Amino acid sequence: MKSVAAPANGRHRELMAKATQARDWLLDLVFPPRCGHCGRVDYRFCEDCLRELARVPVALSSLGADCLDGICATGGHGGVLRNALQSFKYYGGVELSAPLAARLAMAMQALEWRFDILAPVPLFADREAERGYNQAALLSGHVAAETGIRTRADVLKRIRSTSQQALLSERERRENVKDAFEASGEVQGLTVLLIDDVATTGSTLRECANALRAKGAGRIYGIAVSHSLSRQWVRREASNEYQDTWRRDQDFGSAGQLHSFEGGQAGSIPA
Ligand SMILES: [Zn+2]
Repeated sequence: MKSVAAPANGRHRELMAKATQARDWLLDLVFPPRCGHCGRVDYRFCEDCLRELARVPVALSSLGADCLDGICATGGHGGVLRNALQSFKYYGGVELSAPLAARLAMAMQALEWRFDILAPVPLFADREAERGYNQAALLSGHVAAETGIRTRADVLKRIRSTSQQALLSERERRENVKDAFEASGEVQGLTVLLIDDVATTGSTLRECANALRAKGAGRIYGIAVSHSLSRQWVRREASNEYQDTWRRDQDFGSAGQLHSFEGGQAGSIPA
């Protein structure tokens, strides 16, 4: 007895994905892409900006967790990191999934959390067909390859369409995603790491956690590439093991209680 809203059928989704590809091809022809950070023509994200992205330190920030056992992000939502995430999410820059996922894998190394599975935050089926991919699932796939932890994109479903969180106030965001997710019974007893691109108020991660908790998941954590929470919501992530290698993030200073370690690994730049 499932309360899953009927999404478009497979054939319809396939057609929508093809229509999106054709539309993007035509748009590229008429309006050549521009680098999402510096604006250089004919790149969605140019090599110089990829190098700049690789130099952004992985800054671990622990966000107010509520019903999760922990939520973390690898940096503030600004500058080249924000532009890379936007190119990745809204402008078809799927090649950015590798360097962005490398940040998540580095953060996971530094944390003392342990997981059974990775669960990307799902998109509603129609939205995924329109975009052609789920950005969180792409990130999760790369993280799985780097860490050896299984990614299970099938344990969570978005059971209704929701508005884009980016356009809403904090209260609207909470209401927008309330009861929007359903989890599979297979999560019972498992420790789950939710993966998302951006955490703003954390509402989406919390709703996913509620759905997982309802099906008996054990400990539940969340990680996002960036967060756009104000300083008062961000608290220090302390880890004695890694503290020596961390340095204070100058952008946030002591008030932000953010620590980071050098994450600029040239190896994360795709060829
Ligand atoms: Zn550029």
